[in-house]
Amino acid sequence: MKKLEQLNWNNRFAQLPSDFHSRVKATPLSSPYLISACTALAEELGLDPAELHTPGFAQWCMGHFELEGTQPVSALYSGHQFGHYNPQLGDGRALLLGEMMGPNGQHWELQLKGAGPTPYSRGADGRAVLRSSIREYLCSEAMHGLGIPTTRALALVGSDEEVYREQIETGATVMRVSPSFVRFGNFEIFYYRDQHAQLKQLADYVIDHDFTDLKDNAQPYHALLKTVVERTAALVAQWQLVGFAHGVLNSDNMSVLGLTLDYGPFGFLDQYNPGFICNHSDHHGRYAFDQQPSIGLWNCSCFAQALLPLLHEDGETAAAQARELLELYEPMLVKTFASGMRAKLGLVKEESVDQQLSSELLELMEKNKADYTNTFRQLSDITLNGDRGKARDSFVDREAFDVWTDKYRKRLSLESRDDAARKQAMDAVNPKYVLRNYLAQTAIEKAQQKDFSMVNDLLAVLQSPFDEHPEFAAWAAEPPSWADEISVSCSS
Ligand code: AMP
Ligand code: MG
Repeated sequence: MKKLEQLNWNNRFAQLPSDFHSRVKATPLSSPYLISACTALAEELGLDPAELHTPGFAQWCMGHFELEGTQPVSALYSGHQFGHYNPQLGDGRALLLGEMMGPNGQHWELQLKGAGPTPYSRGADGRAVLRSSIREYLCSEAMHGLGIPTTRALALVGSDEEVYREQIETGATVMRVSPSFVRFGNFEIFYYRDQHAQLKQLADYVIDHDFTDLKDNAQPYHALLKTVVERTAALVAQWQLVGFAHGVLNSDNMSVLGLTLDYGPFGFLDQYNPGFICNHSDHHGRYAFDQQPSIGLWNCSCFAQALLPLLHEDGETAAAQARELLELYEPMLVKTFASGMRAKLGLVKEESVDQQLSSELLELMEKNKADYTNTFRQLSDITLNGDRGKARDSFVDREAFDVWTDKYRKRLSLESRDDAARKQAMDAVNPKYVLRNYLAQTAIEKAQQKDFSMVNDLLAVLQSPFDEHPEFAAWAAEPPSWADEISVSCSS
C-alpha cells in the first residue's frame, strides 16, 4: 500500500491537446476537514487507508496543494439539457487531477469536485455544498454496493466557509474516482463545432484508454457506438430494477463507459410510482422514473449523431449505420431487465408467464402504493406451501395479492430450488437498504450540525445493502411523513 506522495501518475487525458481541456488551479476553501473516506476504495487504488486520516489528505482533497506528477485539468464538453442543445458546458466545478495505476493494473482517474471556478463555470461559483456532496458521496458508493456501474467516491471533505444557494450553506468537496469521466457531451461539442479531427482523436483516445479490445476491430467507431449503446441500455435496465431515478439525464451527464455519473437530484423509489419525478426542477417530468429507458435511447442517439462523421463519409450511409446500431438498445434493455426481474422473483428457468407475472406484481404495487424495495425484499419469505410472507401486509387489497401469490407459487413449483436456497439467492439481489431520500436528508441535517456519524454509518450499510445489519434495521423503514416535504432540485 502506498503513501499519497508515492502514487504513480500517468495523465493521459491531460496529455491530449488543449482543445480538450484547460489547465486549472483549485481555489480551495479554508480549514478543510475530513467528513468521511472510503477505505475499501482506497485499498482498490493501492492507497494506504491510514493516509485518509492525515491532515494532508483533507488539504489535498480541498485543493490546497497539487501532488507531484498530477496535472489538473477541467474538461470541455457540451450537451443536450432537457432536450435542448447547449453549445458549451464543461467541468464547471471539477478538476481532473490525474490518472493513476491501481495495484492490479487498472487505471483510475481522480477528480476533485467543488474546488472553485474553472473556465467552464459560466459565472457560477465552482462550489458544491455539503448537502449535495453528501448525496453524491453516499450514492456513488451505494450504487457500487448494489452492483450497478458507477463513478466512485474516495472522500468527502468539508469547510465552514459559506456558499450561497437558496439559503446560506457550507462548501464541501468530493474526490470522485472513475476509469474515465468522458461523457457523450465531450463528443457532441466537436461534432457541433465541425471539429472532426478532434472528434476522431477523442474516439481514438477512448478506445485506447477504455475499450482496448476494440482497437483491432475493422470498424472501431461502429464498435464503439455499439458498445456505448449496449452499456447504456444495460445500465438503465439496472436502474429500473433497483428503483433508481437519476433526475438529470442530460447528455452531458451520460458516461461513455456506461457508468452512473453526476449525482444531483436523484431519488430511489419508496412507494412504487412509475411516474415518480425526483427533480423538483423537472416540471414536465422529462426525466421521470418510467421515462428513463426512452431517454437513455434518446441520449444514445445524440452520441450516435456526434459519431456520424467517423462512421462513413457519406452522410446518409453513416445515418443508416447509426440507426442500425441504435436498434441494439431496446433488446439489450429488455433482456437485462427481464433477466434481472427473474432473479428478483427467484426464478432460474425462463418461462413464458414470467413477464406477465412481474408486470402484474408491479401493477398491484402501484395500485396499493406498496414500497418498491421492501416488497421485493420480503417476497423471499413466501414459501411454496406455507408462509404467504410479510409483503402481503403492505397491500391494502390482500385478496388481489393472494391471487398473485397463488400464481407465483404455481410458477415457483416449476423451479428446482427449495425455499431456503431461493430465499438466499433472492436476498442477494433484492437489497434491504437503498439511499432513501429521508435517510440522506437526516444524515445531511446531522452533518450540518457537525455530527458526521450517520454519513459514516450509512456508508457502511450501503456498501453491503443485501446484508441484514440488524442494528440499522430502522433504515429499511418506509419514509416518515415529513419526507414528503423534502425538495431536491438542480441547485447544488
Ligand atoms: P449538472 O447537470 O448539474 O451536472 O451540471 C451542468 C453544468 O453546470 C456542468 O457544466 C457543471 O459543471 C455546471 N455547474 C453546476 N453547478 C456549478 C457550480 N456551482 N459552479 C460552476 N459550474 C457548475
Ligand atoms: Mg453534470
